[in-house]
Amino acid sequence: MTDSRQDSPQPGSLYVVATPIGNLGDLSPRAVEVLRSVERIAAEDTRHSRKLLQHFAIQTPLVAVHEHNERELAPRLVEQLRAGASLALISDAGTPLISDPGFNLVRLAREAGVRVIPVPGPSALVCALSASGLATDRFVFEGFLPAKRVARRARLAELHHDSRTLILYESSHRIVECLQDLAELFGGGRHAVLARELTKQFETIRDASLEELADWVAADRNQQKGEIVLLVAGCPQPEKDQVSAEAEQLLAILLDELPVKLAAKLAARITGLNKRDLYNRALQLKTLRDG
Ligand code: SAM
Repeated sequence: MTDSRQDSPQPGSLYVVATPIGNLGDLSPRAVEVLRSVERIAAEDTRHSRKLLQHFAIQTPLVAVHEHNERELAPRLVEQLRAGASLALISDAGTPLISDPGFNLVRLAREAGVRVIPVPGPSALVCALSASGLATDRFVFEGFLPAKRVARRARLAELHHDSRTLILYESSHRIVECLQDLAELFGGGRHAVLARELTKQFETIRDASLEELADWVAADRNQQKGEIVLLVAGCPQPEKDQVSAEAEQLLAILLDELPVKLAAKLAARITGLNKRDLYNRALQLKTLRDG
């Protein structure tokens, strides 16, 4: 661990600072220190961020950097960083760049050799995942799905076989439609979690099948308000090892009587597995046998 006193803001550095997603108590002491001592804070919405900064008695000047001006402004900010200024980047909530502005600035700063220093903290996706009870070893974050129905369904159709936990951000206006599409395309029985208003007064984390969640949200207008993360369990995969153990046993028997190619061909016909995979496995078995 590093002593926080060794971490006083460095000139010519860009700090990417995570801010709360609801509960102000989640702003880290390090974030407060950095936001107080940098020369300027680049904020997505200066009016919104001023309230946060006032709460912590932070008086650092703000500059607005949002999706409409970021490309134009980033080169100027990088020039100032190169000249030795220190700058912190924040968004309205959570971690900048995660479905939020900042990508152009960070990319340009790194290309210019500016030191970019992350100050980690809340992000709705990790917050939701950590309490969801769904598999966390492999997950895919898709951010916001397309707003238009046809494009949204096309994206979901690409994702429904993925074995990783799927994490989505969804607007409260589209949550009913989105859950209905998910239930239809992924199957109503697939396990899912709706995480709403995390870290806030009406925090709700509910797990159920997609069909149950879709019905529950459609029937209760309160569940159609606020900020929402949706998580869907990955598509169950066939138990590969069991299949290959059985296939291997079959191959071993066939190899007692037949050449490799024929044994693989017959095993493929019997098991429905890929002929090339079985041929490769049969070759390995034969090599092991022949020493
Ligand atoms: N940068 C943010 C982060 O790190 O999570 C995300 C910003 S994105 C514009 C806003 C979306 O994040 C919301 O529409 C919602 O899907 C999700 N979100 C943000 N705060 C949330 C909260 N307190 N509870 C649930 N979802 C939240």
